[in-house]
Amino acid sequence: MSNVIKLRPTTTEYWGGCPYCGTNDGYINLGAEHWFVCGAHQTKWCVGSNLFSGWQDDTEEQRAESAAKLSGFRAVEPIHMTREQQDGARS
Ligand SMILES: [Zn+2]
Repeated sequence: MSNVIKLRPTTTEYWGGCPYCGTNDGYINLGAEHWFVCGAHQTKWCVGSNLFSGWQDDTEEQRAESAAKLSGFRAVEPIHMTREQQDGARS
């Protein structure tokens, strides 16, 4: 029996937050895909592709570096802002 309400982390990150801490450390391009990461928890999640410009300018070397870096992160389901937060952010 437990009446303890487990607190889930919340996030204020538009592109989603790490399910453990609710933040992110920015994104890494993997080709045209954009992966947000949390360095503290080694998590990553893809928010889509070709949303942010700049990935076309990555050199082969940078792409290999990004791929190697991302391979060390675990793909997770990010947490998102609540509807209330999103409404608040708009006003
Ligand atoms: Zn985290």
